[in-house]
Formats: sequence, structure tokens, C-alpha cells
Amino acid sequence: MLKLDKSKAAFEEAKTLMPGGVNSPVRSFRSVDCNPPFIAHAKGSHIFDIDGNEYIDYVGSWGPMVVGHAHPRVVKALQEAAERGTSYGAPTLLETELAKLVMEVYPSIQVVRMVNSGTEATMSALRLARGYTHRDKIVKFIGCYHGHSDSLLVKAGSGLATFGVPDSPGVTAGVAADTITVPYNDFDAITKVMKEHGDGIAAVIVEPVAGNMGLVLPKQGYLDKLRELTEEHGSLLIFDEVMCGFRASLGGAQAAYGITPDLTCLGKIIGGGLPVAAYGGRRDIMNCVSPAGPVYQAGTLSGNPLAMTAGIETLKILTEQSEDGGPDYSRELTIKTKKLVLGFADIAKKAGVPVQVHQAGSMFGMFFNENEVYDYDTSAASDQEAFKVWFINMLEQGIYLAPSQFETIFMSGAHTEEDLDKTLAAAEKAMAAVAE
Ligand code: PLP
Repeated sequence: MLKLDKSKAAFEEAKTLMPGGVNSPVRSFRSVDCNPPFIAHAKGSHIFDIDGNEYIDYVGSWGPMVVGHAHPRVVKALQEAAERGTSYGAPTLLETELAKLVMEVYPSIQVVRMVNSGTEATMSALRLARGYTHRDKIVKFIGCYHGHSDSLLVKAGSGLATFGVPDSPGVTAGVAADTITVPYNDFDAITKVMKEHGDGIAAVIVEPVAGNMGLVLPKQGYLDKLRELTEEHGSLLIFDEVMCGFRASLGGAQAAYGITPDLTCLGKIIGGGLPVAAYGGRRDIMNCVSPAGPVYQAGTLSGNPLAMTAGIETLKILTEQSEDGGPDYSRELTIKTKKLVLGFADIAKKAGVPVQVHQAGSMFGMFFNENEVYDYDTSAASDQEAFKVWFINMLEQGIYLAPSQFETIFMSGAHTEEDLDKTLAAAEKAMAAVAE
């Protein structure tokens, strides 16, 4: 059993100070009935809690830590940047440098605006889409998460396209009414919605590789269909690549699937562990953003030099090709991820536990489910109890996974072969416990 005495005491105190003891809900480990370890420090692929436990980390701060924790180059660049001051609220060369790095990898982004969180990026992209098209309605997919702005906290029940109702208290019915939700990967549902409401729809926003109902991949031709339908109806197609950007492939889902969206939202990795996100895309659309155009959006700390520095250094490491002509960083990540995914599938098969394993580049996930998982409903049908046993067993063996099978887990460049072998050895034991 894990010794978590200090973490338990810390959590009790935190609960008196913060809602549920945390600053973001899933950190509370509530769905797995486990006290969250309080983290003291992290290095490379490992995190260490305040009780002295060490874990191999596959959460990576929910995605950003693609080059590992406290990468020496990122730390050095940050230390030097901090010496020069942490925020000026004025233009810097660093913003231009990060913008160029992003555009090299994402040619669909001709103009970009830096913000501080994925929530801000998607919220601002929607306002822009509405301002540009002079339309009010948006379409989102059930089970896709785009942050916590009001119009995107709408999920609707199961079934075909319906007008949304608030999913979170506090979201007004008026706001929710402008969000139409449809099941992911359902060709007929989106076709019907676009046919009925298309001319009033400002944008269709999608996680092109969905990572927030577990990892769910788009069916063949689905993203092409979204592109085709949005073009037909003059709606904008927004790819929310906050999670899958730089992960589904270096150039994100848009490169992997060969689709050019009108707008793209990025986050997580582009801040290298500091609060950065961005939205960008076609020049004519982006030039509607203030002060170039009338659609207002601003930020005191947007583009601050510390955050830009972490992003720049992380993207440099990620995009550098190895000098001896060997596989590049992103390919290495994919290969390592494949080893775990195939290993998990094999271990589950031998233990007689039905699972579905999914991978997109350096993102991966596993559902305790005997059926194919392709949308929110099929994902939600997964066995929660089996996951709990798996999760706790892995944690006790020092493997830190996301505390929900409806989250994605992430590989970093810092994970070693030894880490992977340890993880697979732990998985054998954990899977045996699930099978019992
Ligand atoms: N979009 C996607 C696809 C995400 O996965 C997330 C967060 O996980 C967000 C947007 C929101 O980003 P943030 O938590 O930085 O506000």
C-alpha cells in the first residue's frame, strides 16, 4: 500500500481552503476514491510526492510536458528570462519567435493570437467566428471538451442533434440555446444539423482527435465530411488542437488527416508547462481581431516573456531533427507510445480482460470495454470498476496514470526504455488484479 500520510493531511487542509481541495476538479482523484498524492517536485519522466513516493508520470500535467519535467534547456532559458523580468505588458521579440515556430509547423495558421489558457483560445475563436460570419449558433460534439467557457459547457443528452441545455449550473439557457450538440463520428447527425441550421451556424468546433472522452479517433473520412459541410454552408471549421496539437503528429491532427481548418486552437505544449495557448488561422478571419479589427479580445499577461520562453524552448526541442538522420523527436515519441499500447493490449488479452486501446502519436488510452469505442456513449459504457482496480494497482506500483479512463495519457521524450519496461511489468500485475 502506498504511504500517503502527508498527502492525506495536506488534502484535508486544502479542502478547507479550495473547492474540493483543488484548483481543477479532476486533480481530486474523486472518481477513483483515492487521496491524490501532493506533488513536491518532478524531473524528466518522474514525479515525486511529499511522502517521498516516486512515480513514472504519464499525465505530464495533462499534456504539456512533452519534453519531460524540468528539461535542462527549458529551465536554463526560464532562469535567464526571469532575470530580465517576468512581464512587461508590451510587445517583445519572443512573441514573434513563438508565433513563427508555431506557423512553421501549422501552415494553416497565417496569423496567431497568444492567450493564457485553452479555455481562452476556444472562447475567443468562437467570438471571432461569430463576429466574422455574423451568425450566432455553433456546433460542438458530445464528449468533446473545449474548456469551461459558457457556450462550450453544453453537452446535451444522448441522441441526435438537439439544441443544448445547460450542463453546468450557471450556464444560462439563453447561452446554451446557441450551442447545438451532435454525437462524435456520426456522419448522419452532423449532415442533418447542417442541412437544417447550417446557414445560421457560425462555426463547427471539434477536437479532431478527441481526448476528453478517453482517446477517441475520428472515423475515416469524418473530418473531411466536417470540412465539406462547413464549406458548403459558409460556417467556419475550428480545430481545437489544444490537446492533440504537436501530439497526434508534430503538425497535429490537421497534418495527420490532411485537413485545413479555418481556425486552430493550440495550448498545453506551446507553453511548455507555463500558461500559454493560442488561436489562429486564415488571415482574413484573424484580421477581424482587435486592434486589427472589431472583435475584442485582450490579456494582461498574454504573451508574457516567461511563458513565451518556455514555449519557444519546448518547441525547439520538439522540432529539432536528429543530426545523424535518425528518427525525429515526434517519431520517437510515437514509437515509445506504440510499445506501451501494444504491450497493454497483449497483457490484457493474456489476462482475459476485454479492452480497447487507442493511440494517436504520443497520446494513448485504454477502455475496459469489449466493444468498439467511437463516441461519448460507447466510451461511457466502459467498465468503471475495472478501471478503478487498474488505476489504484498501477499507482501503488509507482505508475501515475490519469485518474479516469475518460482522459488521455501522454508520452514524453524523457521516458526511457527502463520506464516502459517497468510500466509493462506493473501492468501485468494490475491486469491480473482486474481479472480476479
Ligand atoms: N481544449 C481541449 C481539447 C482541452 O483538452 C482543454 C483542456 O484540457 C481545453 C481546451 C482547455 O484548456 P485549459 O485547461 O488550458 O483552459
